[in-house]
Amino acid sequence: MMRDKLITLRDELNAKFKEREDEIAGSLLALISGEHVLFIGPPGTAKSMLAKDMCSCIDEGTFFYYLLTRFTTPDEIFGPLSLSSLQSDIFSRKVEGYLPTAHVSFLDEIFKSNSSILNSLLTILNERKYHNGSAILDVPLITVFGASNELPEENESLEALYDRFLFRYFVEYVQDESNFVDIVTSNPEEFKPSVRLTIDELCCMKERSADLPIDEEVIEALVALRREFRNTGVIVSDRRWKKIAQVLRVASYALERKSVDRTMLMLLQHMMWKRPEELPTLRKLLLDVAISGGVDLERSEKDLRDLHASTVLIKDYVLPQPVTCPMCERVFHKWKEMKEHASRNPDHYYVLPGSEEQYQLSSVRTSPRHLPNLIDKFASMGKPVKLTMPADQKDLYLNETDEFEETLKLLEKDLQAERAALVKRLDENIWLSTKDREDMLYHYDAKTRSMSNMKRLLQETRELIVSEELQST
Ligand SMILES: [Zn+2]
Repeated sequence: MMRDKLITLRDELNAKFKEREDEIAGSLLALISGEHVLFIGPPGTAKSMLAKDMCSCIDEGTFFYYLLTRFTTPDEIFGPLSLSSLQSDIFSRKVEGYLPTAHVSFLDEIFKSNSSILNSLLTILNERKYHNGSAILDVPLITVFGASNELPEENESLEALYDRFLFRYFVEYVQDESNFVDIVTSNPEEFKPSVRLTIDELCCMKERSADLPIDEEVIEALVALRREFRNTGVIVSDRRWKKIAQVLRVASYALERKSVDRTMLMLLQHMMWKRPEELPTLRKLLLDVAISGGVDLERSEKDLRDLHASTVLIKDYVLPQPVTCPMCERVFHKWKEMKEHASRNPDHYYVLPGSEEQYQLSSVRTSPRHLPNLIDKFASMGKPVKLTMPADQKDLYLNETDEFEETLKLLEKDLQAERAALVKRLDENIWLSTKDREDMLYHYDAKTRSMSNMKRLLQETRELIVSEELQST
């Protein structure tokens, strides 16, 4: 089974190379999808060893390595001229043992390629063909690993070369100290994987996976990404999008999946950037599209906030006894009404039923006369003014919170099921690094966090409905 082989190879390579999870997964995927890989980064980051070991993953794979300089000649890359054919006036190279006969190649300092080799190199990378004099050879090349200290200078042909590398990795020195100690003290032996991929297995993955459906939500995400890229002035060619879709198909097919699902979208982080500084934004964008959709809490959140706001609004200080304004003969039962009346009519005063004594309101002391305060009066009667809710409203609102609790319970159940499905998908997706998986789950758990916020707000709303606070002067 290819899937099991890939898992074994990934694990064995990860055991040898520290902090290269992304590069290893991507390189394996590049091999099975016949794409090229570019490593950008300082020398001494085990790039060539990784490329060589990738070749060891292929049964009878042949490897060609070269460190390019500005003065590298075609002879060094494609093979020396054949003297015997020259004698018969034929221009031909002896390609055996050079790039045109390799399955995997590592070309270090690839952007030092000069014009004498660039055209042939581009043809080999694109078309897997080499023009050897008048003969056109089909080259067995599967993947070229290119490496460079820096991005290519602005130069049309070098940019064309750069564009041929679908997978791009920014390779840094290892960060973790114990990994560093491992590297310094270990004696790397030749990589001998316990399983190998055969050329046959590799060569037709693209064809075999060509009919694999892509989930609707993945297509939507690709369209959204393309729009987002255009808005920020990043143009990705249609050819690159097509290649990306192919790679996602191969990646899913190799895992024996029935379709391309959204967890595959994270792979785009290694295929879409042009400059390393674009990576953090790209990653954030991909996390958003890969995790969007599914259980939607937004609506319930809004409804709950509305319920809470309206609870705050409807709560009132109910007066323990109705109060009358003798000047306009209005009777007040609730604090808010009376307060509003008082602020409009600051010189009005209030009386309790069956009493002649006049009172004024605590917060509005504009009356020319000094009258005792109504709130204090109620307090002294042992009937303080309480912030509460009318009984009928209280029942109505409590009912609403009960219904909400039911809704939240259902949503939470869906959320847990959705999360479990995501965890399973992530675990089975061998192309993702540990960090990818963690970040995707963390991103997903924003939903869980918003669920607990909703539960808290619901509890607060309920407390607000039943609580009674005392009004004081
Ligand atoms: Zn009045």
